[in-house]
Amino acid sequence: MSVERREVELAANLARVEERITRACDAAGRERADVTLVVVTKTYPVEDVRLLAELGVREFAENRDQEAAAKAAACADLGLSWHFVGQLQTNKARSVAGYADYVHSVDRARLVTALSAAVVHSGRAPLNCLVQVALEKESGHEGGRGGVAPGHVAELAAAVAAAPGLRLAGVMTVAPLVGVHAGNPGAAFERLKEIARNLRSIDPAANMVSAGMSGDLEEAIVAGATHVRVGSAVLGVRAALG
Ligand SMILES: *Cc1c(COP(=O)(O)O)cnc(C)c1O
Repeated sequence: MSVERREVELAANLARVEERITRACDAAGRERADVTLVVVTKTYPVEDVRLLAELGVREFAENRDQEAAAKAAACADLGLSWHFVGQLQTNKARSVAGYADYVHSVDRARLVTALSAAVVHSGRAPLNCLVQVALEKESGHEGGRGGVAPGHVAELAAAVAAAPGLRLAGVMTVAPLVGVHAGNPGAAFERLKEIARNLRSIDPAANMVSAGMSGDLEEAIVAGATHVRVGSAVLGVRAALG
């Protein structure tokens, strides 16, 4: 596809997503400005990132360090914000701290330690960290996509808040495929909302609620999401892997 045709396609997709977000905000009695669209560009090329930046997107997300690092470096001239949303190994912490403004997938104490050490070592600005919540763990399922059980969120959040170089920003979830909330993203996001509220009673500044993807952004906005992470509805359906 030519660059021109791709740009037309991305613009049309973006407009549709924007309309969905606006409509969901209206339905929920929320301001459009209270919800940030984060476009998940995983598996898509850096050319798409540049086209989306031209179309006004500022917030981008990736779920693999190698791919994220390459795209962030290739777009360093654009002043974009990068959100890391994938499962993260501690040995990638230093790399991620080199380009990410947000890590949405903090789910264990060892990762907190590794990210903190990486930020302190680099001397960069504080890294915004969200605790990833695996709601399915509340009903005894393992999940497998990362995240901490709801009962352990407060403890991990306290570790983030106490870690040099890290800022506790809020919570993130992916609607579970198993457990009591399976097939009911609205209920899952309501549960996340309660967890986010508890977190704000510990630290009022931890107000980010990252929830909702292409298939369930409306439910997330109704439940108070401040950040929706949208991939396929903007870029197209990804090839099987990724
Ligand atoms: C891929 C991904 C998304 C975007 O998913 P879509 O269904 O393509 O919108 C959001 N969050 C995370 C953590 C992802 O890995």
